[in-house]
Amino acid sequence: MTAPTPDHYAVVGNPIGHSKSPRIHTLFAAQTGQNMRYDALLAPFDGFCETALAFKTGGGLGMNVTVPFKEEAFRLATRLSDRARAAGAVNTLTFNGDEIFGDNTDGAGLVRDIRSNLGRRIAGQRVLLLGAGGAARGVILPLLAEKPAALIIANRSADKAHRLAAAFPGISGGGFPELAGQSFDLVINATSASLHDAHLPLAHHQFAPGCLAYDMVYGKETPFLRQARAEGAATADGLGMLVEQAAEAFLVWRGIRPQTEAVLAELRRP
Ligand code: NDP
Repeated sequence: MTAPTPDHYAVVGNPIGHSKSPRIHTLFAAQTGQNMRYDALLAPFDGFCETALAFKTGGGLGMNVTVPFKEEAFRLATRLSDRARAAGAVNTLTFNGDEIFGDNTDGAGLVRDIRSNLGRRIAGQRVLLLGAGGAARGVILPLLAEKPAALIIANRSADKAHRLAAAFPGISGGGFPELAGQSFDLVINATSASLHDAHLPLAHHQFAPGCLAYDMVYGKETPFLRQARAEGAATADGLGMLVEQAAEAFLVWRGIRPQTEAVLAELRRP
């Protein structure tokens, strides 16, 4: 008897060689006994739709989408989840007949990492979100669902933070200087400054006693995390968010939520 053909999934991006998603999903599949194969696909910068549609035509059942194609994936979807619509970006596509379902699991992944892996509550906390790009936008709705005492967005280009905050009721946004005199229990760095080792203009008092400073970038000691630690904050990088957003995508596709603890430990192993 021949073995059944594995269900086919992939992550698409440019660049894609660095992606940890094939390893994460392969570990999830082994853990949950799912017969699936997960590849990394490099799409040309002007060829996302062709790559995604060729994968679908070839029998692919779903795709994760990473930089720089999340907005294009949003436009390609024929149906969207509420969280994808709020994010204006899609990181998880599901192909089902003619339908292309677009979802965004980044925010759920962040919230789960903070709550379950790091043991921190968001409810009732003063939260500062740094950045106003796709990553920041994608986490606002899931953060608000946790009912923080306040959610403030700060961005290098203040007008972008103003516009983003205006799209969601009950939050405010501006430039870094507007943070003067305010302190926060949770500071989330959703800028790409850490990728370039750039320092963010945060004042000492902005990390309240007991603060958690969270950098979405992972795998490196960033100036943001160094500053936060020097000022007494607890720190975390974005590897847990990466694993948790993958687990949420796996749940969307397979109807099973994999355990993440062992996978995260495996990825952290030197
Ligand atoms: P975008 O390019 O959409 O946005 C970049 C943001 O960073 C903008 O707000 C920009 O400000 C700001 N920025 C860039 N450089 C600097 C700097 N030197 N000083 C201050 N602000 C700066 O990127 P994304 O939102 O898609 O991604 C942001 C980060 O989040 C990336 O590093 C990405 O790797 C990470 N990420 C991690 C995930 C995970 O699972 N761990 C998931 C998704 C993203 P301005 O508007 O002024 O240009």
